[in-house]
Amino acid sequence: MKIICIGRNYADHAKEMNSSVPEVPMFFMKADISLLRPGTPFFYPSFSNDIHYECEVVVKIDRVGKNIAERFAHKYYSEIGLGIDFTARDLQAQCKKKGHPWEIAKSFEGSAAICKQFIPVEGLDVENLQFSMTQNGDGVQNGKTSDMIFTIHQLISYISKFMTLKKGDLIYTGTPAGVGPIAIGDELKGFIGEKEMFRVLVK
Ligand code: MG
Repeated sequence: MKIICIGRNYADHAKEMNSSVPEVPMFFMKADISLLRPGTPFFYPSFSNDIHYECEVVVKIDRVGKNIAERFAHKYYSEIGLGIDFTARDLQAQCKKKGHPWEIAKSFEGSAAICKQFIPVEGLDVENLQFSMTQNGDGVQNGKTSDMIFTIHQLISYISKFMTLKKGDLIYTGTPAGVGPIAIGDELKGFIGEKEMFRVLVK
């Protein structure tokens, strides 16, 4: 199972990171052991002092596909969810500065929080979903999939040019503005519309 994450897919987040808006999708991967099982706390790792949350809509692939045309992308998933792309911002800054790969900042154990249950997309307008995250009850991120630079179908098509997508693969579709640091004791809750999708305790 692959975890594929999109970087800079919302212009307002690219701006807050002082990054340019990409002309083609930018993606990176997390290892399978990055997945934080629903209901499990996130343990603040000792190798970082600046872990950030990035709340993201997650697409679960349910059919094998390669070189998928954008117009057929909808046939390759039937459920959508919400998760957190936890990022060691301090290590990421060092990696960026040196031009090194990002794995230590992005693909560490437990760095991909995921919802317990996904929502069927049938009857859902996936390109117009509202999602949000709270930190200790305060709203910190609020996004709309209509603000994505590259749509879910464009992302599926693009990724599948480079690698076969398989059943169970997860695509984290990028985060809107409002990313920030977490602290031990935090409670992070994610919502699609009004529906609570995940609750993660930081220990
Ligand atoms: Mg992200």
